[in-house]
Amino acid sequence: MSSESSLRADIVEVGRRMYARGYTASNDGNISVRLGADRLLMTPKSVCKGFMTPDMMCITDLEGRKLQGDRDPSSETLMHLEVYRQRPDVQAVVHAHPPTATGFAVAGIPLDRAVLAEVLTTLGSIPIAEYATPSTKELPEAVRKYIKAHDGMLLANHGALTVGGDLFSAYYKMETIEHFATISLVARMLGRENLLSREEVTRLQDLRGAYGIKAPAPICAETVEDESCQVVQAPAGGGRRLVPDLVRQAAEADPPPLAQNTRASYGEVSPKPLAKADGEGEIRLTYRELSALIEDAVRNLR
Ligand SMILES: [Zn+2]
Repeated sequence: MSSESSLRADIVEVGRRMYARGYTASNDGNISVRLGADRLLMTPKSVCKGFMTPDMMCITDLEGRKLQGDRDPSSETLMHLEVYRQRPDVQAVVHAHPPTATGFAVAGIPLDRAVLAEVLTTLGSIPIAEYATPSTKELPEAVRKYIKAHDGMLLANHGALTVGGDLFSAYYKMETIEHFATISLVARMLGRENLLSREEVTRLQDLRGAYGIKAPAPICAETVEDESCQVVQAPAGGGRRLVPDLVRQAAEADPPPLAQNTRASYGEVSPKPLAKADGEGEIRLTYRELSALIEDAVRNLR
């Protein structure tokens, strides 16, 4: 185990990175590490994580009682204690409010679709713990449901929580969650999010074993409702590794005619020819022709 002085320095460094990357604003966020069997090193309450010094940290016992330090421990100490109680393997806990991941937490959209191989091998799914008032006993209760099977989760209308076998591993999971949230957001804005097939997810799960990646629980299929595994949405692929986005496919199967014409007139490249269902063939209009049609329609209405 690392020495206390190096752990203090590591917490300062992780806090600086979190603040520099915009994962926290003002005094948000908190970080802790195990310091031996029955003590924790914890960030103090009401300090900006970007400007900490090693002497600011508190030492607490596993009940959260302060043993050493000039300042009081983080207001989210209860949440950290719950994680250490539930997960003897966890050596460090990181909590922050990274904006894109927190946006998903506010929208109530978990990051549980099989999209990126590296996210699946490291974190599996990223569920949302239900909303709880920060700093109260409610928050550890909300976290308890998912922490046994997950190393990372969103906290509804609040932020994100990650854990690891050492401090940097917990912090990197926070980076992975925010990066994944940003990629998911861009894919959804582009209108398509193809998924890894269930077969491919099984293959990735086997890689966890081959590469010795420690995961607290196996990945399970989307239909299974089980808190002891990581539920990932991965449709059966019938031999394919990537499954087309079904929502997008449904929209393309029956697009509204005006939208078709507008899309064509703006020169958008469509993955499928824009054919009319009755077999008349493709219709493309220039912007000028489309405008004229709309003007005609408006005149007729009058
Ligand atoms: Zn928070």
